[in-house]
Amino acid sequence: MAVAIKTVGVIGAGQMGSGIAHVCSLAGFDVLLNDLSDDRITAGLASIHDNIERQVSKSMISDADRQAALERIRPTLSYCDLSICDLVIEAATENEQVKRKIFNNLCPSLRPDAMIATNTSSISITRLAAATDRPERFIGIHFMNPVPAMQLVELIRGIVTDDTTYESAKEFIGMLGKTATVAEDFPGFIVHRILLPMINEAIYTLYEGVGSVEAIDTAMRLGANHPMGPLQLADFIGLDTCLSIMQALYEGLADSKYRPCPLLVKYVEAGWLGRKTKRGFYDYRGEEPLPTR
Ligand code: NAD
Repeated sequence: MAVAIKTVGVIGAGQMGSGIAHVCSLAGFDVLLNDLSDDRITAGLASIHDNIERQVSKSMISDADRQAALERIRPTLSYCDLSICDLVIEAATENEQVKRKIFNNLCPSLRPDAMIATNTSSISITRLAAATDRPERFIGIHFMNPVPAMQLVELIRGIVTDDTTYESAKEFIGMLGKTATVAEDFPGFIVHRILLPMINEAIYTLYEGVGSVEAIDTAMRLGANHPMGPLQLADFIGLDTCLSIMQALYEGLADSKYRPCPLLVKYVEAGWLGRKTKRGFYDYRGEEPLPTR
């Protein structure tokens, strides 16, 4: 039987943590938002304000919903405040040591029956669960970016995760109005395992001179009905992120078919990381993005 969740703690107020706090508060959960400093929490709250405001201006939510949602989010620098949480979602920096330290310091403050979830994209759920005092109440809840806009959430059970935790997490995702798919605890889960090799192959296609940036993106938009070309999408995700996911697949699955394309490595070495640095497979410094090859 699923456990009722009312109060959610979110650790990490970055891109994902602020998005998770946003959707939880809009769905009526009380939220405690934690990060390393007041400044970081303030920046996270500012992005929630902006994004929620955009939803009001598009008439997706009412002004009263916005107000009520914002009032449900409380900032905190202390894990002691998370003792009232039914569920804590960790969305801190993608680094295993950072996450282990968080769990180590967090667990003594939580109620014994509280559940912990991680939003990690590439670290083993079973291994992170083992860093807590409650591996059976630990689960992977992998939101997609940007959280308010994306319908899917991947649910990943560790080897020890119990049925109640799984059912509760599934029900929670439903209450957020999102759709859960279940993935086993293998590198990349489902979405990254399929999406990133396709992007990597698009970069090989460019590297081998089969097509230009424009030809490859047009081919996949009009020939496969993808809403965005794979190189445009790579720039959107960030080329450093694409490379680190390919490395996790390559190392975690020990199969040469996941070898990151040398051209992807070169772009990252050059500091051309896509939209966030204004250059990647496209140059974003002018009015219109222009292909860089
Ligand atoms: P981010 O860099 O935007 O935010 C990370 C935040 O964690 C920062 O604000 C940082 O100050 C905070 N942090 C670091 N150590 C902390 C600690 N000890 N306690 C509290 N806060 C701490 O990163 P992000 O893109 O939001 O990614 C967060 C997690 O979500 C990662 O595990 C990542 O793999 C995962 N994820 C990211 C995406 C994406 O597209 N960005 C998609 C799905 C999942």
